[in-house]
Amino acid sequence: MNPISFNNSYAQLGGDFYVRTTPLPVSNPELIIFNHSLSNELGLSGTGLDSPDGAAVFAGNVIPDGAEPLAMAYSGHQFGHFNPQLGDGRAILLGQVVSPDGAQFDIHLKGCGQTAYSRNGDGRSSLGPVLREYLVSEAMAKLAVPTTRALAAVTTGEEVAREQLLPGGVITRIATSFVRVGTFQYFSAKGNIEAITKLADYVIERNYPQVKDKPDPYLAFLEAVINRQAGLIAQWMQFGFIHGVMNTDNMSIAGETIDYGPCAFMDEYAHDRVYSSIDRRGRYAYNNQPSTGLWNLTRFAETLLPLLAEDADAAVEIAQEALKKYVGLYEGYWLNGMREKTGLTTSRGKDKKLIDELFELMATNEADFTLTFYYLSKLKLDSPEEDKNLRDLFKHPEQFDDWAQQWRERLRLEDSDDETRYAKMQAVNPVYIPRNHQIEAAIRAAEDNDDFSVFHDLHEVLQKPYELQAGKDVYMLQPKPDEVVQQTFCGT
Ligand code: AMP
Ligand code: MG
Repeated sequence: MNPISFNNSYAQLGGDFYVRTTPLPVSNPELIIFNHSLSNELGLSGTGLDSPDGAAVFAGNVIPDGAEPLAMAYSGHQFGHFNPQLGDGRAILLGQVVSPDGAQFDIHLKGCGQTAYSRNGDGRSSLGPVLREYLVSEAMAKLAVPTTRALAAVTTGEEVAREQLLPGGVITRIATSFVRVGTFQYFSAKGNIEAITKLADYVIERNYPQVKDKPDPYLAFLEAVINRQAGLIAQWMQFGFIHGVMNTDNMSIAGETIDYGPCAFMDEYAHDRVYSSIDRRGRYAYNNQPSTGLWNLTRFAETLLPLLAEDADAAVEIAQEALKKYVGLYEGYWLNGMREKTGLTTSRGKDKKLIDELFELMATNEADFTLTFYYLSKLKLDSPEEDKNLRDLFKHPEQFDDWAQQWRERLRLEDSDDETRYAKMQAVNPVYIPRNHQIEAAIRAAEDNDDFSVFHDLHEVLQKPYELQAGKDVYMLQPKPDEVVQQTFCGT
C-alpha cells in the first residue's frame, strides 16, 4: 500500500470531540465492490486500496499509515426525544484526506466494531444495510443529490445476531464532513461554548469558507446551513425519496444526505408514505420531511445562540429571523425543481396549483412517482400519440387527460417545442431509481445465496439513471403485487 495523505484535522480539535478507537478486526474480509471512479476523483488511485490489501483496510483489519481512527461524539433528538449521549456506535472515522482539488473529505468505516458509544449495540452491521447504503447513496450521487458517497463494501466472514444470524459487512463512506446537528447539540447540552465555537470555526473553514468574510460569520453560517438543507430536502421531494430517520444526529451540517437506514424511494405516490419499520407514527413520512428539516434546523440554531449575540433575547431574535427564511427558500427550490420536472421554463402564478393538482391526481390514481415524470417528458404538445404510457399509470386515465389539457395550455404560453423540452426534462426525470423491491432482491441473493450478481447489475444500471439502457426495462418497472416491499429496516 502506498501512503494516503491524511491530515486528520478533526483529531486536532481535541479529546472532547471523540474517543480514539481502533476498529476490531474481522476473520475473513472480502471485497464486494470498490468505487474506482470515486477513488480517482478523491486522488486515492495509486494507493493500492483497490488491491487485496484494500479489503483489509475497508474491514478495519489494517489501519493505513497516517490514519488516526476515532469515534465521533454527538447527541441527538431521536423521534423528538433528546439523547445526550449517542456518538459513533458502530462507525469509525479514519481521518481526513485532501483531494486533488484541495477539498478535505472524511473516510468513515461503518460496521467495524464497538466503540465507547455503542451502548448495548454490537458495533456491527449486517450485509443488507451495507448493500442498501451503497446502492442508494451512489444512486443519489448520480441523480445529482448531495450525499455521502460509498467507496467500498466488504463482507466480514462473520455473522451478526439480529432477529436471526446474518452475514456481516462493512461499508466505507466518504463525506465532505460527518459533523451533524447532533455534534453541536452534544456541546450545547454540556454548556460548552468554547467547544461550540471551535466546532463552528472548524466547519466554516472546511465547508462554508465563504461566510468568513461576512460581517457576522456565525449568522451567515447558520443561514448557509439553512439554505443547503432547504435545497437538499426539496431535491428529496422531487425524487420521491424518504430518508426514514431524520433524527438530528442524522442531519449533516454540510448539507449532504447522510446515514442511510430504512430509507426508500416510493413507487406509487402517496403524500404520507412511510417505509421505516421504526417510524410507527409517520413522524418522518414523505410529506413531513420539509417541516422536520425546519425542526432540526431550529435545534441547530439553538446551539449557536451564544455565538449570535451576547444578549440572550437578541440572539433568539437573530436566530428566528434566519429560520423564518427556510420556508421561502424551500418552496422556491421545490417550485423551481418541479417546474423543470414538468417542462416549464418560465414562471406563472398558477404553476404551483398545476403541479399540486398533478400530485393530487397521482395520489388518488396510485400512479408511480418516477414513471409519471419520465413519461411526462415524452409527451407531445400537439398530439396525444405519446400519452398512452402515462395514461396507463392512472386508474382513471380521463382524470389525467383533464390535467394534461391544462398542462398543454400552460406550455403554449412559453413557446415550448417537443424536442427541447424533452431534452431538458429527461435530464431531471430519471428512468431508474433504486426501487425498494430491486434492493431487496439484491440483498436476498447476497445474504441467502452469497450471490452478488444481482447487486452488481442493479448498481450498474443506477450509474446512469437518466439514460434508457437497452435490456434493462425490469429496473424501471414498478414491483409486481408480490414484490412490493411494505417496510424497510434499520438493521441495527
Ligand atoms: P442511527 O439512527 O442508525 O444513525 O443510529 C443511532 C445511534 O445508534 C448511533 O449512535 C449509532 O452509532 C448507534 N448504533 C446503531 N446501531 C448500532 C450497533 N449495531 N451497535 C452499536 N451502536 C449502534
Ligand atoms: Mg446515525
